[in-house]
Amino acid sequence: MPWAPKKVCAAPACGRLTSNRFCDKHEKEFSERKAASDHERGSAASRGYGHKWRKAREGFLKQHPLCQCDECQEGKKRVRAATVVDHIVPHKGDMQLFWDKSNWQALADECHRVKSASRDGAFGNPMK
Ligand SMILES: [Zn+2]
Ligand SMILES: [Zn+2]
Repeated sequence: MPWAPKKVCAAPACGRLTSNRFCDKHEKEFSERKAASDHERGSAASRGYGHKWRKAREGFLKQHPLCQCDECQEGKKRVRAATVVDHIVPHKGDMQLFWDKSNWQALADECHRVKSASRDGAFGNPMK
């Protein structure tokens, strides 16, 4: 279409004419803001865990307030408050494995980090 009627920019209190939804300035602002909020929502939500996972996670942490890692064993060896729910077997997008509570463990943030690091080592590098 060589000629399109100009419209008023959709941004509040702008009033500039544009052939798009927004004028050049607001078009740019809007797309930047959208990218930022997409990023904020995080990968968890975009992978479909979202609200349901948050709820499930909260419930699980209430049942298991102490870290369940080998070093802590729910307070038997060391008392650390669990703050993350970890998948014992990495689910890698397998939703059945993801929601399988027997595959969940409550971990303290610190222990989770240690575990993630050793897991990366185990899979990223050949076993010694
Ligand atoms: Zn504008
Ligand atoms: Zn621990």
